[in-house]
Amino acid sequence: MTTILTVVGARPQFIKAAAVSRAIRARDSMSEIMVHTGQHFDANMSDVFFDELEIAPPTHHLGIGGGGHGRMTGRMLEGIEEILEAGRPDWVLIYGDTNSTIAGALAAAKLHIPVAHVEAGLRSFNKRMPEEINRVLTDHVSTLLFCPTQAAVGNLAKEGVTTGVHHVGDVMYDATLNARAKARETSDIVGQLRLEPGKYVLSTVHRAENTESRESLESVLDYLKAKAVGMPVVLPLHPRTSAAAKKHGLDFDSLTVIDPVGYLDMMALLDGCAEVLTDSGGVQKEAYFHRKPCTTLRKETEWVETIEAGWNRLWKGTDFKSPRTNIADYGDGKSAEQILNLIEMAR
Ligand code: UDP
Repeated sequence: MTTILTVVGARPQFIKAAAVSRAIRARDSMSEIMVHTGQHFDANMSDVFFDELEIAPPTHHLGIGGGGHGRMTGRMLEGIEEILEAGRPDWVLIYGDTNSTIAGALAAAKLHIPVAHVEAGLRSFNKRMPEEINRVLTDHVSTLLFCPTQAAVGNLAKEGVTTGVHHVGDVMYDATLNARAKARETSDIVGQLRLEPGKYVLSTVHRAENTESRESLESVLDYLKAKAVGMPVVLPLHPRTSAAAKKHGLDFDSLTVIDPVGYLDMMALLDGCAEVLTDSGGVQKEAYFHRKPCTTLRKETEWVETIEAGWNRLWKGTDFKSPRTNIADYGDGKSAEQILNLIEMAR
């Protein structure tokens, strides 16, 4: 029996972990211990994903939300280390680029427990992003590095990381395929918001670079408001952005602001929208999975193949490339299976 201890803490990790957790449950040869750090704790940023995506309730909940990066990461490190010492798993499985990711990676690596990193090798080459620091450090202490794209494999090679590196596709595509059909049957959010399919824009904003200063947030909101002259712009509001707008005295005016939604409603909003404006890594790809044009509200993106394929462009950057093409990198919706096969083979 291979025991995997999964560390999650933030919304995109619940979604990615759901795809892999489902595949672990289907194998008699594997068991999973789920640690929730508490980085995201609101019901609509956390519980809703456990319920809707049928993730088993966390075995351990550390309840560490809020505070600065150092304090938060330090407390997580301490909590995760205690759990690892109490019952040593065969693997620690971590996702993406949050403080929960780096805390899980460091705690395990120091105890000589092998780390498997899902979404390894992504780079923005912008070290001012907290996520970039988390990614680079995590990759350098990981034993298995599961890359969603060939570009990610190339990024790791340039840093001298070539052992244990596998291009497995994107678990978020697995997650989208699992949820999209269900969302079509069950979600009525487009109707509830009195939106017409194909006649609204979907936006999400939460990156520190867009929320930390008044100027940057105002500039993004002005862009969205200008868009809203033509079509409703729906903005499921991230708690960080809500707090930043309050702090900077900025309003949302003509934007259709709603609370963060569950994954099925998000799939339905993506399915029905005309275009996507976002600074989210996950939502950029989901726009492509739904074949919707996306404008990324940042100066760079880690998901360079979406730009190459003409489905994404950078705000204030270039226009969409033409013609639009399909992206093979993200796989066929079976990334979770590949990840588990590789973990079993590495035993
Ligand atoms: N998401 C959601 N509800 C929302 C906004 C986003 O379910 O109100 C989902 C979205 O579909 C994607 C994930 O959350 O799967 C992205 O998370 P986020 O943008 O917070 O993080 P990032 O991908 O930028 O790391």
